[in-house]
Amino acid sequence: MTRRFQGDRLLVATHNAGKLEEIAALLQPFGVAVVGAAEMNLPEPAETGTTFVENARIKAHAAAQATGLPALSDDSGIEIDALGGAPGVYTADWAETPNGRDFVMAMTNTVQKLNETGLPQPWTARFCCTLVLAWPDGHDEVFPGTIEGEITWPMRGSQGHGYDPIFQPIGHSISFGEMDRWEKNRISHRADAFNKFVAGCFG
Ligand code: IMP
Repeated sequence: MTRRFQGDRLLVATHNAGKLEEIAALLQPFGVAVVGAAEMNLPEPAETGTTFVENARIKAHAAAQATGLPALSDDSGIEIDALGGAPGVYTADWAETPNGRDFVMAMTNTVQKLNETGLPQPWTARFCCTLVLAWPDGHDEVFPGTIEGEITWPMRGSQGHGYDPIFQPIGHSISFGEMDRWEKNRISHRADAFNKFVAGCFG
């Protein structure tokens, strides 16, 4: 039986303002206000897990223990079958440079690796998002979300972020980078996980 969230303020274990805003909008209909990790002066724990679930649990439990409040975290990335599921939990790492993240470089290198495999297209892939709600007593609830698609090249579209310009969801003829934000947020891996979270903890 899923444990319900009872309060009216939820700590979101992220320093990412975009994620915080998205979660705040989602929870507004339930009368729940959100507070971010930066506002609470929480440190960012090292993401030492090898799965989305492990990393999301690390972030949620660290925040719940530090504050004594239930905390929600999100970990996400893209898995490409022809690369054995890479970059997966290392999606953000593949974009790191000494001057910050460079996703054009990351996408270019990713497609080069795909070409080197010699495997034919379609290059099937999925975006994954895991949400974890952790309580200070150590209990947690885990909600995984995915969206299936394929890697396309060249990059298409300037909307969205990260790997959006080279990901085309199944049943669509445009990339996430070409899709308007409302449509993407309706069908995305994050929406899938959010729907399960809301049904489980607020339904
Ligand atoms: P984290 O969850 O903050 O560790 O970062 C996950 C990384 O996955 C991001 O930096 C993006 O590169 C990528 N990612 C996750 N979700 C999306 C998405 O919806 N579109 C594009 N890239 C994404």
